[in-house]
Amino acid sequence: MFIKTIRTLEDMVVMVDMVDMVVKHLPFWTVFNSLDELKKRIQEIANADGFVIVTRRSKKIGGRTGRVWLECDRGGEHQSTATLRKAGSKKTGCPFYLLAVRNHPYETWEIKDGTIEHNHELCEDLSAHAFVRRFTPSEMKLIEQLTAQNMEPRKIFQTIRKQDPDRFHVQKDVQNVVAKIRAEQRQGLTPMQSLENVLMKNDFIYEIREEPGTEIVTEIFFLHRDSRVLWRAFPHVMMIDATYKTNIYNMPFIQIVGMTPTNKSFIIAHAVVSKERGDNFVWVLERVKAMLDECMEPRVILTDRDLALMGACGTYNRML
Ligand SMILES: [Zn+2]
Repeated sequence: MFIKTIRTLEDMVVMVDMVDMVVKHLPFWTVFNSLDELKKRIQEIANADGFVIVTRRSKKIGGRTGRVWLECDRGGEHQSTATLRKAGSKKTGCPFYLLAVRNHPYETWEIKDGTIEHNHELCEDLSAHAFVRRFTPSEMKLIEQLTAQNMEPRKIFQTIRKQDPDRFHVQKDVQNVVAKIRAEQRQGLTPMQSLENVLMKNDFIYEIREEPGTEIVTEIFFLHRDSRVLWRAFPHVMMIDATYKTNIYNMPFIQIVGMTPTNKSFIIAHAVVSKERGDNFVWVLERVKAMLDECMEPRVILTDRDLALMGACGTYNRML
């Protein structure tokens, strides 16, 4: 691997140092089932040691990635102060590198060569190295486009992965960027406020309840004008279903569904309520009642066995 002929005392010292390093970095020299696994493990070891690994280049063998050169992120040319400020880390032309090779025919990966010396201090605080996982402008553009198409961060990550499997990004990096893009789109509005904007733009009828004395929205009820037309025609059966823990705000989401005589269901209304309040379901049913015209009373209300919801329906019946 790194065997040199020992001729001088200095060689000897270097050799002892290397043996020391080899023992310390023993996990470097194991066989990995995939390149991903190898990179992940090597990065972990490097981070624990106080440096960051980057993929400098790779070479295809038989049409697929066969060799990958991993370097210390301080590798490469010295930089001017201007670039330094931008990149956040100083290039020192560090000689550290590892050559990962795909084994034939087992498809396993191994480190086959390398230099494990650094020409700089290893740092304990790696936060300065976060830029390693920063995205290139073209990657950022792609993330923006895919976010605009409402693609899930997980799928966006996979797409980026496919484009360049040698990058060290993790799914969390994509999630962070998507969250930032979304926040910019909302322009400082809270999720509730931006929902309100969407509802207004799309001709929904909606009502909001705020925490008394504050502007914190605790409940929101909305239905589309078209749904209301259908509801007027078929008001007799109403199904109410509440789903919990399905959104990131951890607020129960309520769906109110109607049924036509031909057994087709249609959406009447939706509501998002805060879990803390006991009377939130009652509030939703009150909104339903307020939307109904005189002759439109539902004859049957169906729910799942949600006790809070069943209790609210009882209260609602007394309101009729
Ligand atoms: Zn280095």
